[in-house]
Amino acid sequence: MSSRSGEPASRSFAKGMQCPRCVSHNTQSAKMGYSQSVRTGYNGTQTISEYGKTLEPPEPLCELGTFFATGVFVTMVSLFLIPNLPVVVDFAWAQGLSVFDWPVIVVSVVIGIVAGLRSAVSASTYNTSIFQPEMQGWERGVVCRRCGHRFSR
Ligand SMILES: [Zn+2]
Repeated sequence: MSSRSGEPASRSFAKGMQCPRCVSHNTQSAKMGYSQSVRTGYNGTQTISEYGKTLEPPEPLCELGTFFATGVFVTMVSLFLIPNLPVVVDFAWAQGLSVFDWPVIVVSVVIGIVAGLRSAVSASTYNTSIFQPEMQGWERGVVCRRCGHRFSR
């Protein structure tokens, strides 16, 4: 594992890896192929070629984003659910309360935070157990420019 990012392309890819399928030396790392296919426009928007799209790296999950997305969603569901629960089950303390009553809001926010934390933990687990190995595989990925075969160096 000597070749990582930061090495001059001319040196590390001058000869190219040999494609195991068509024995062509016209190969390129998936990472380089991807970065070359991304174009940044005047206003900062990025466009990517069809070829580049096939080389996109795996995306990690954002723990904070997952926390808020799940937390807010569960809080909202809980807000509307709790006042309606007494109808279904014997939920004495919520009897007669509405979405806008403090106990309902507090309980909903707490439930939302707990749910948000749980999803943040599972996002973090995903990142270490699935995303990281995928990313390492992506960084080792090589693409044959002749036949399109993808392999690992
Ligand atoms: Zn090939």
